[in-house]
Amino acid sequence: MTTFNRTALEEVLKKRFFYTPSFHIYGGVAGLYDYGPPGCALQANIIDLWRRHFVLEEEMLEMDGSIMTPADVLITSGHVEKFTDWMVRDLETGEIFRADHLIKAVLETRLNGDEQARKAEIVAKSDGNAKSEKGKKKNNKVQAVKLEDSVVADYETTLAQIDNHGGDGLEEIINKYNIKSPETGNDLSKPVEFNLMFESSIGPTGHIKGYLRPETAQGQFLNFKRFLEFNNDKMPFASASIGRSFRNEISPRSGLLRVREFTMAEVEHYVDPKNKNHSRFNEVKDLKLRLLSRGVQEGGKMEPIEITIGEAVEKKIVDNETLGYFLARIYLFLIKLGIKPDRLRFRQHMPNEMAHYACDCWDADIKSSYGWIECVGCADRSAYDLTVHSNRTNEKLVVRESLAEPNVYEKTVLEINKKVFGPKLRQNSKTVEDYLTSLNEEQLEALKKALEDGNGVTKVPGTDGNQYEITNEYLTIKRQTFTEHVREYIPNVIEPSFGIGRILYSLIEHVYWTREGDEQRSVLSFPPRVAPFKCLLVPLSNNPAFTDLVGDLAKRLRKLSIAIKVDDSSNSIGRRYARNDELGTPFAITIDFQSVNDGTVTLRERDTTKQIRENVDTILQVLMNLVEENVTWEKVMETYPTFTQQELD
Ligand code: AMP
Repeated sequence: MTTFNRTALEEVLKKRFFYTPSFHIYGGVAGLYDYGPPGCALQANIIDLWRRHFVLEEEMLEMDGSIMTPADVLITSGHVEKFTDWMVRDLETGEIFRADHLIKAVLETRLNGDEQARKAEIVAKSDGNAKSEKGKKKNNKVQAVKLEDSVVADYETTLAQIDNHGGDGLEEIINKYNIKSPETGNDLSKPVEFNLMFESSIGPTGHIKGYLRPETAQGQFLNFKRFLEFNNDKMPFASASIGRSFRNEISPRSGLLRVREFTMAEVEHYVDPKNKNHSRFNEVKDLKLRLLSRGVQEGGKMEPIEITIGEAVEKKIVDNETLGYFLARIYLFLIKLGIKPDRLRFRQHMPNEMAHYACDCWDADIKSSYGWIECVGCADRSAYDLTVHSNRTNEKLVVRESLAEPNVYEKTVLEINKKVFGPKLRQNSKTVEDYLTSLNEEQLEALKKALEDGNGVTKVPGTDGNQYEITNEYLTIKRQTFTEHVREYIPNVIEPSFGIGRILYSLIEHVYWTREGDEQRSVLSFPPRVAPFKCLLVPLSNNPAFTDLVGDLAKRLRKLSIAIKVDDSSNSIGRRYARNDELGTPFAITIDFQSVNDGTVTLRERDTTKQIRENVDTILQVLMNLVEENVTWEKVMETYPTFTQQELD
């Protein structure tokens, strides 16, 4: 197979209108794209498969939430303060870069240059001409400069840990490696934090501040109580949502992979923090995944290990069964779509890299010509979100579980003697009471001791910061026995979060190839289930004799819900096949003169270009099975004779 050529692929995607920059006749805006007919159908099919694989298979509770979100919600969730990336500015031109991406690009370019130089040196050495070749070769604008071995190791370690740095760390790296603005060579500013949310206001007064949501998750958390009720209070369970999210990316430069508006599909799986086992873990435990753990990256390496998810959980590489279960389910989903397993890995986040809400996180990274890109994030958000929203709103976002055996326990409690407390402390009683009721058990015990040591008198601060004298008469601190019949807890949340556009683009790269010996003939080998169109319907020519048959077949295919494309243009049949290979249409039914006479048609498969010829009923049955992936083309070829006569490619 020929080497991958991104420019050629982009040409095909543009020609076939998979997607295009939005507002392009106005010059476009970076990071905004429109999907054309095949892109749209492909996206719909990916989402359909997602819904079947997750929502239906796991009986998840799906919702569709508002995009416009009041500021209060996102202040509470921490996004207003912490949903940021670091940017640097070219001090002369003002051009902006995302700091970690710039460092990565510069170091990778230098390492590339080193590789070129080393290769050149090896070639040169075998020519016996080491000196003249050394350091002179250029490739893709990469200056071939050979680096010291220690520098290469240093760069590799820095790259492995690049996601683990805040502003200071990034600044240190920029200074240490003398990183400048790439095109101009100018100095760069210090990294500054930039919030990624688009700000807006709700209503005509502009008084209600809002943001376009950066994830669908918050809407799901806020409905937790309704979901739990809907689920008859049964745990564990998951909610799910598919919809648009918005992030004001600093410098989107990688096509669909980094955009400012994108479709996300997110699952929030609610689980008892004391039991993160999963009842279906057994079904996936033997699945082998390529895992790149935190420890390996901290050691400066990027080599994943291949291990069953069962063993990974047992060895605590992956924290718990539920997290492991979802990593396996994500893998199965991506493979079903057509993502190549050798270009898929799971990478664990390093401590400083994790989002503010997460306590463990694994990314499904997919390799494309842009490198390894996170396409699915799978985070254990612990009880963070439900706790902060509950505290802010006083709405209890908890699970109540009836206990088979009551839980009997003792606790130190405070009882305020209202008859004395109020009259003695008068206008200060509220500030002192607020302070006292905020004390935990340990602090209450300390206060009890202070009262004992002070012969029944001591001083305590009020919430206003002033000191107040209290005595034994004001309150009692004692041990009390409680019997609980119900356990109340805030669930933890495991969240697989999918960026549909990233998956869609990566998939396109993985299924793209060109026919042997003819690089002009591109093929997108989408699996039938996700292909934008399933079947091309082509009459041999635009002879009127075919019209009725084409119309009749099209009607029957529509009735079977098979997405078709009729091509009765005057182009040669070979051209028409080629056009549909570029659209990734897996099958084609061709109608010729024999069809008019005996009611048989041919069925062609895209990748092999092989055909069978049978009567229409049989072909439709075979096609149905192929589209639903109940049968493979290999199996069809074993069952029916190959038709060779009319291969006009
Ligand atoms: P995160 O919440 O940052 O883990 O993102 C969840 C998923 O959303 C990622 O795995 C990506 O697939 C997707 N995503 C995040 N940011 C972008 C972006 N700027 N453009 C496209 N997809 C994105």
